[in-house]
Amino acid sequence: MLKKQDIRALTKEQLRNFFTKNGDKAFRGNQVYEWLWHKATHSFDDMTNLSKETRMMLEENFVINHVEVDEMQRSNDGTIKNAIKLHDNLLVESVLIPTETRTTACVSSQVGCSLDCNFCATARLKRMRNLNPDEIYDQVVVIDKQSRLYHNHKLSNIVFMGMGEPLLNYKNVLESIEKITSDEGLGMSPKRITLSTVGIPKMIKKLADDDVRFNLAVSLHSAIDEIRSKMMPINEKNDLAELLESLNYWYSKTNKIITFEYVIWKDINDSQKDVNALVTYCKKIPSKVNLIEYNAIDDGEFQQASKAATAMYVKTLEANNIVVNVRRSRGKDIDAACGQLANKSS
Ligand code: SF4
Repeated sequence: MLKKQDIRALTKEQLRNFFTKNGDKAFRGNQVYEWLWHKATHSFDDMTNLSKETRMMLEENFVINHVEVDEMQRSNDGTIKNAIKLHDNLLVESVLIPTETRTTACVSSQVGCSLDCNFCATARLKRMRNLNPDEIYDQVVVIDKQSRLYHNHKLSNIVFMGMGEPLLNYKNVLESIEKITSDEGLGMSPKRITLSTVGIPKMIKKLADDDVRFNLAVSLHSAIDEIRSKMMPINEKNDLAELLESLNYWYSKTNKIITFEYVIWKDINDSQKDVNALVTYCKKIPSKVNLIEYNAIDDGEFQQASKAATAMYVKTLEANNIVVNVRRSRGKDIDAACGQLANKSS
């Protein structure tokens, strides 16, 4: 038996053509497209404005691959971590992070990760495959529903900060964002979306050339090459100078400032010399800094720096007119915090 095609891999035009080839009107394709994306339905039977025959014909030709929530864990602070099962039974994690004024979805872009950031739980999972655009889209739909159900308002922001490096799944990530922001999809503003990357200069330049409208965050963690390479091997081939050049290119094209994500670890980057290097780096590119609380993963090789070290960073950055936010971690009790996503619930 022939394997049925995943209908969500088709463009609207291809869907319209399918119907005209089968003796029906092209606008049926529009109707189906609306069900698949805007209404995010996972069953042909739910497409109630189509005749029974049409639904049967779709059923005979296509499947709607979709994700399912395999397990949902709720933290005391309202954070929700989902183990999301893909159509081939692989798992990724997606997190809903609430604050008083907004809810943010942290979504995954790959199953596992091929980069070896040595502080990150996901790095221990081998990269299995890239997520398809619909699998990224579905994570957003799941979290939007949870936001409405548990927090009484729709999802307000999305960060690509879950499992995987989004710029190594470039095409699918951009396609998912295109659908998420389109009025035919979820109609979210690109201003509310942030792509977070370890910083791959070639791909950052490509983003700028592709005229994207979302925000860019870079996991910096050190502005000293030697230290950054130790924490993030990607820095060995793509050093800070090259990264900076690509970020300036991004800024010149998009006019959007960069957010640097930065964790301070005890005895690694918690000295005055480290913060001075960060100040020097930030002064070379319009940017702000998010200091993120670290969540030790099981073996505890790395530890969160002292409160005094964080205070020193804040004081020095502010004295140099660099905007800095301290991000307290959410969902620690369910391993949903930054760097902790590792399919542990499975
Ligand atoms: S921090 Fe991101 S890029 Fe680095 S290993 Fe973890 S998931 Fe991959």
